[in-house]
This record gives sequence, C-alpha cells and structure tokens, in this order.
Amino acid sequence: SNQTYNFKDYIRVIPDFPQPGIRFKDITTLLKDGAAYRAVIAEMRDAVKHLKIDIVAGPEARGFVVGAPLALELGVGFVPIRKSGKLPGETITASYDLEYGKDVLAMHKDAIQPGQRVLIGDDLLATGGTIASSINLVKQLGGEVVGAAFLIELLYLNGREKLGDIDVFSIMTYE
Ligand code: 5GP
Repeated sequence: SNQTYNFKDYIRVIPDFPQPGIRFKDITTLLKDGAAYRAVIAEMRDAVKHLKIDIVAGPEARGFVVGAPLALELGVGFVPIRKSGKLPGETITASYDLEYGKDVLAMHKDAIQPGQRVLIGDDLLATGGTIASSINLVKQLGGEVVGAAFLIELLYLNGREKLGDIDVFSIMTYE
C-alpha cells in the first residue's frame, strides 16, 4: 500500500524501565501491527538497497526481528549473532563492557565468507556497544561491514561514533 506512516506513533515509551530514569522504547507495539511492521521493514530496505549487501547479520533477540525480514526483503540470507554458549557449531567471540560486568557475543565461524558485504540490523542504537562488538565479529571472519540499520537511534548517546566508517541508517531518532 502507499499509506504513509509516522512510525513513532507505534512506539510505546515506558518510563523507568528497566531502571529508574530510563525511558524504554518498546517496539512490540509496532511489531504487532502487521501493516506497520511490513512498512517499516520496506523503508529500511529502500534506505540500504544501494549498498549491494550480500548478507544481513543481527544480534539476538530484537536484531532477529529486524534483521531477518530485512534480509528477505533484500533477497539475501541472514546470520545470527548470539550470546556465547548458544550457537551449536564452531564459533568466534567478542566481548564488550556493560554498565556492570561484560557480555560476550558469538558467531558461527562459517557464517560469513571473506569479502562478503555485510549489513548489521538491530532494533535500537543506544551506546553502540552491541553493534561495535558485532562489527568486530564480522571483521574477524573477513567480512566487510558496509552498513548498520536500526528502527530507532538514541542520538544523545552518540552510539554512531563507536561504529567507525560505515553507513548508519535509522528510521526514528530520539533527542
Ligand atoms: P547499545 O549496545 O547500543 O548500548 O544497546 C543497544 C541494545 O540494547 C539493543 O540491542 C537494544 O535491543 C537494547 N536497548 C537498549 N535500550 C533500549 C530501548 O529503549 N528499547 C529497546 N527496544 N531496546 C533497547
């Protein structure tokens, strides 16, 4: 359809989740509307299709909900980035610091072929830690990260600055 959307109308902002002071952007209210979900993925596809992407990678769990349909729209495959210990095959890992402690992400060793042009997809860019770690993984496998696409970018956290010289696309931004 050619209906135009103000996608922010579909995002539910929940104050003080998961901690006091955080205004959580809940995307489930967008995803449950089939037409709006389809339209937002189509908009992401149109924003990145010039990048000649070979494969999409997305970090669990909300990166699957964005990355997999985006891959289908682009006509390419999807590979998962998971918390370490979840993938069944041989993996490589990368760790990143959290507010308390650290997290380790993993990919299958054969997920990406050297030289492939990779797009990373996720729901939301906050500090950029998750995506910086995802970029590290793709590079370890010899892939070229050509872009990252998000439903939402929190501009005040400057996550983009952690992502280096790639194209970063977001459908919605919050100041
Ligand atoms: P970053 O590593 O960029 O600081 O955090 C991004 C990750 O945290 C994303 O994978 C995202 O799923 C999650 N995240 C952080 N804040 C929010 C939020 O307000 N809404 C949603 N949906 N996810 C968030």
